[in-house]
Amino acid sequence: MEGKNVTVEADVSDGLPGLILVGYLASEVREGGDRVRTAIKNLGLSLPPKKITINLSPADFRKEGTGFDLAIAAAILSAYGGFRAKDLKDAVLFGELGLDGTVRGIPGVMALTDQARESGFKRVFLPVENVNEASVIGGMELYGIRDLRHLLEVLSGKLPMQAESTINMDELQNSMNRYEVDFSELSGQPLLRRAAEVAAAGKHNLLIVGPAGAGKTMLAKRMPTIMPGLDIAESIEISKIYSVSHLLTAKEPLIRIRPFRAPHHTVSVQALTGGGRRPKPGEISLATGGILFLDEFPEFSRAALETLRQPLEEREVTVSRVEASVTYPANFQLVAAMNPCPCGHFPDRSRCRCTDGQITRYLQKVSGPMLDRIDICVEAAPITYGDIKSSGNNESSREIRARVEQARKIQRERFAGENVRCNGEMSGRHIRKFCGLGREEEKFMEEIFEKLALSARMHDRILKVARTTADLAEEEKIRLADLCEAVSYVKSRDKFWGN
Ligand SMILES: [Zn+2]
Repeated sequence: MEGKNVTVEADVSDGLPGLILVGYLASEVREGGDRVRTAIKNLGLSLPPKKITINLSPADFRKEGTGFDLAIAAAILSAYGGFRAKDLKDAVLFGELGLDGTVRGIPGVMALTDQARESGFKRVFLPVENVNEASVIGGMELYGIRDLRHLLEVLSGKLPMQAESTINMDELQNSMNRYEVDFSELSGQPLLRRAAEVAAAGKHNLLIVGPAGAGKTMLAKRMPTIMPGLDIAESIEISKIYSVSHLLTAKEPLIRIRPFRAPHHTVSVQALTGGGRRPKPGEISLATGGILFLDEFPEFSRAALETLRQPLEEREVTVSRVEASVTYPANFQLVAAMNPCPCGHFPDRSRCRCTDGQITRYLQKVSGPMLDRIDICVEAAPITYGDIKSSGNNESSREIRARVEQARKIQRERFAGENVRCNGEMSGRHIRKFCGLGREEEKFMEEIFEKLALSARMHDRILKVARTTADLAEEEKIRLADLCEAVSYVKSRDKFWGN
C-alpha cells in the first residue's frame, strides 16, 4: 500500500472574497474548505474578507477523503500570517476537522506516516486519536493535535513543540503472538490435527468436510496459533490494512496475532473483496497473514467464490472503481468447511435422508476451479467418546508451531531467490525443480496416476503436499510415506467430487 505526497498552498488576495479549492478534488475534499472556514470562525478568529485560493498539487490524480482538512487549515492560517509556512517544510499534516474545530481521527494513518518517513519528512501533525498508531512506524516526530486552536498555538510558537509517543515498542513486541485459544483444547481427531499442521507448515489451503459437531470451526479458529509467529515487520504490514479500514484504536494500535476472519456465507462480494465509494479493504485483505475461514462453503454465492480465485493466485486484490483502481494485499490462507450433504450425515446412509440429486447439487456448488486451489481435503469424523477421553494429553499450539516454523525455515532456504516462499505457493516450474522423486517413489506415483486416473493438476498437488510432509520430518527427499499421506488428501476430494 502506497501513498502520494500532496502539497497544499494558500494564496490570499484582494479579489472578491471567497474560498476556492483547486487540484482535482473529490467533493469531500472540496467541502473541507467549508469545514475549515466554519471551524476558524467558531474559534472566534476573525479573518479579514479576502479571496483565498487553495491549491492541492500535483493535479494529476484525484484527492479523496477528509484527511486534508488540517493541511488546508494550516495553509489558510499561514497565508494570513498566523505563522511562517517555512517552519512546516519538513512536516506533513493530516486530520479531519469538525465544525467546532476538533481534529478527528482518519483512516490509513499508519501507511501515511510510513509514506511520509520514506519521503524524507521528519514531523507529522496528526489527530491525537491516531498518534499511537503512527508511532508504531518509528523514526518520526509526532504532534498530536486536539483542535484548530491547539494547532495554531503550536505552530505560532505559543505552545512548545513537543513530540509525543505513548507506545512502548518493547512492550508491544513482547505481547505478540498471544492467543486466547489453543490446539490442546481440541479433543482427539488425529487426522484433522495432522492435516491442519501440514496445511500450516506449507501454507496449503485446506477444505474440511464433515458433519456438524465434528470440530471443524474449533479447529479453524486455532489455525493461526500454529502458524509461524508474527514478527514486528509483518505485524506492521498487516496493521496498515487495518489502519486503512479504521479498525485500529489508540489502545490497540498494532495487530499482534495472525488474523482470523470468518465472514458469513451471506457476505456480499464487495464486503469480501473490498470496494465502496471510498474503497475499503475487504475480508480477504483483512485476513492477510492469517486465515480466511469460510464455513458452509457451498452456501457462499457463486459470485463470491469466483472472486476468490484470482487473489488466491496473486495474493493481492485490485478493487476497480470509476476513477481509478486500488490494489490491496490479500495474502491469506484459506480454510473452508462444509457438510458432506444438505443434512450433514452423508455417507452414513442409515442417517442421511438426502437424495442423490440433492447431494450432487449441493457438492457441485463448489466449482472444480475453486477446488483446484485447495491442496488438502480432509474428512472430519463425528467426535467419539474416545476422542473426549483422550483430551488432556493433546499437543499444545506451541509444540506444533515449533515444527511448523522449522519446516518454514527449510522452505525459506529452498526458495531463496524464487518468487514464492512456501510449498503451497509453488507453480509447475517449482514443482519440477524442487519435488524430484527417487526411483521407487516415481514408480509408486506412476501406479497411483493410473489407478486413480489423476489429472496433471492433482498429480502436482500430491507432490506439493508431499514436499511439505517431508519438510515437517526434516527429510531432504520425498519418501513413499509422504506420497501416501498426500494421496490420502486427494482421495478425500475424490470421494465427494471425483476428479
Ligand atoms: Zn444428507
